[in-house]
Amino acid sequence: MKIHGLQKMTLLDFPGRVACTVFLGGCDFRCPFCHNYELIDGTAQPIMDEDELLAFLRKRTGLLDGVAFTGGEPCLHADLPELLGRIRALGFAAKLDTNGFHPDLLRQILAEGLVDYVAMDVKNSPAKYAATCGLPSLDLTPIRESIALLKSSGADYEFRTTVVAELHQAEDFEEIGQMIRGARRYFLQRFTDRDSVPFEGFHAPAKEDMLRYAEIARRYVADTSLRGVD
Ligand code: SF4
Repeated sequence: MKIHGLQKMTLLDFPGRVACTVFLGGCDFRCPFCHNYELIDGTAQPIMDEDELLAFLRKRTGLLDGVAFTGGEPCLHADLPELLGRIRALGFAAKLDTNGFHPDLLRQILAEGLVDYVAMDVKNSPAKYAATCGLPSLDLTPIRESIALLKSSGADYEFRTTVVAELHQAEDFEEIGQMIRGARRYFLQRFTDRDSVPFEGFHAPAKEDMLRYAEIARRYVADTSLRGVD
């Protein structure tokens, strides 16, 4: 497997761990507010292969205790379970970020106990889901399947929504809440603009709106928190 990026240390990407973040290329979504678009449009070239990543990790034993996989969409790679197994065999915990569109691979990863933490995006309410992913249409069955898988798994996990002023309104959080009702944990992440975001015209919601949305979501998921709001 080709690795498209590596952040050598993070205290933020993997809760409770001193981790590195591994970026994998490719994604089946085209979210217009994506922070890592160069990973999905083919602009970013691979920086190392799997063996080089493992060599890096062997040298970091004792300094890092976790590896966070993000993208792009890591679950596009059928050999991800094998790599997760090799990383865990070195003694590192593993975290997976996913858009939730690959429940079969997620099921395998969970069944084999290959991850310690999963963060799954829940992009928007059903009617707005496809547009929020930058697609003309989207079958939400795989998303709903991944939500159910995580809720019934023994793995630690979170659902999360990147909240964009132009894409989300209060009623969306009623519907998202119904999709993930009873989940262990839910985060509303405030969108931040960056040079790498492919489209212009998106803004961070006001703090008051974020607080209101979280209040709505809390009716469905008691442990709902905000990220990116002071
Ligand atoms: S799912 Fe994630 S990586 Fe893929 S386009 Fe959307 S924000 Fe970017």
